[in-house]
Amino acid sequence: MSAISQTLLDLHRPGAASDALGGMADTPAMAALPAFAKARTAMGLPEVSEVDVVRHFTRLSLESHGVDNGPYPLGSCTMKYNPKRNDVLALLPGFAYAHPLQPSATLGGVWALYERLQTMVCEITGMHSCCLAPAAGAQGELAGLLTIRAHFQHIGQNRPVVLVPDSAHGTNPASAAMAGFVCRIVPSNPQGRVDMAALRAMLTPDVAAFMLTNPSTLGLFEDQIVEIAALVHANGALLYYDGANLNALMGIVRPGDMGFDVVHVNVHKTFATPHGGGGPGAGPVAVKHALAAYLPSPVVVRAADGVCAPDMQRPLSIGQIKSFHGHVAVLLRAYGYLRTMGAAGLREASENAVLNANYLQHQLAPMLPPVYLGHCKHETLLSGERLNTSARQFAKRLIDYGIHPPTLVGAGCVYFPGDLKSAMLIEPTETESKASLDYQIGIFRKVFHEDAHDEALVNNAPTSRKIARIDAKG
Ligand SMILES: *Cc1c(COP(=O)(O)O)cnc(C)c1O
Repeated sequence: MSAISQTLLDLHRPGAASDALGGMADTPAMAALPAFAKARTAMGLPEVSEVDVVRHFTRLSLESHGVDNGPYPLGSCTMKYNPKRNDVLALLPGFAYAHPLQPSATLGGVWALYERLQTMVCEITGMHSCCLAPAAGAQGELAGLLTIRAHFQHIGQNRPVVLVPDSAHGTNPASAAMAGFVCRIVPSNPQGRVDMAALRAMLTPDVAAFMLTNPSTLGLFEDQIVEIAALVHANGALLYYDGANLNALMGIVRPGDMGFDVVHVNVHKTFATPHGGGGPGAGPVAVKHALAAYLPSPVVVRAADGVCAPDMQRPLSIGQIKSFHGHVAVLLRAYGYLRTMGAAGLREASENAVLNANYLQHQLAPMLPPVYLGHCKHETLLSGERLNTSARQFAKRLIDYGIHPPTLVGAGCVYFPGDLKSAMLIEPTETESKASLDYQIGIFRKVFHEDAHDEALVNNAPTSRKIARIDAKG
């Protein structure tokens, strides 16, 4: 009955039907549709009763793990709790029923929302102008890099190279390549920071930008950032900030003040909008004044009379990069989050995110020592070197206790500094209570004990799930 492979087609029973839309066929709007639009009988849709549909999707939702049913300490990708009040905002009829093809002049409310959110993103990041349209972090990166490319093309400089540190998220080199750049990898030093000697040597006149995440995806603050910015700018290049995850520094320090020229932000990691399974997010991209003209469209401006509308006088813009206006409902949630948190609340969220990560790092250190010594920021990289099994197996066993596996780092996993063996990147987030963190630490201890005494148990995990090891050979 509940086989994972069961689809709505398997539930098809001729004649079974939902009456949720009963009477729709008789509405004037339906009657006005041309005949071809009503030829639904040929579509071969399953006939399923309403209760079967509800049970089908409820069952599927229970078979997966989400931040709403348990801890989700996934490093770098920030699965923090998304307050439900923001879902209510997204359902406000004026926004929910706005049509993508509606004339722009009738979308005043959407544009006013965009103008306010653009201003907030600029304020939080220390930038001048912002475009909210990118659909996710990776598209924000692409938009930011195309903006940089347009800038250098316009001023007549040939700079085909983008530098990326070896600790970067995998999307960084991919976006650089997609934007038409040659990507060169800057090594990290033994402390996990940028190797300054290598950077100096790599900053040649053909470099357009250096992409950096700070704190890095190793959870470490790049304390040489002021010197890095000076070096990059002295070379005539720009500094790109991958702000997918701003959780360590909201209200504490701004990328713009560190010397960055371009930044993208993932609202679905930092501003508490949902994500997962490739679902819609948003990756606003913001820039300093000198690059504002090249930003993608729309950039919304407020006229003297208070009316907001996209700025149509931007001839140097790289143009539209996302269909229609971007993910309005996601951006609305981000706006709701920022308004309810306020400036002081954002700072407190970041302080708690860092405190929680350091608490976990400290408590777990006897089992999973941190790869880099010292305090971490919002996430911590823990080594699996003391395990009999491996960090990968340890993480899979956590699934049996209702905890989502942390991000696995090292050989065969994600793109990371070369000599890193098996490790886990853990980001507890600020929305987990002390009680939840202590519960998670207790589970980690239990699995560590199992790893020492019953390797087979850990190696066969997870045993509690419908699907256990997708594409996992090791
Ligand atoms: C998640 C992440 C990205 C990519 O964001 P998507 O929304 O998944 O495209 C880029 N950089 C960093 C540091 C990230 O954590």
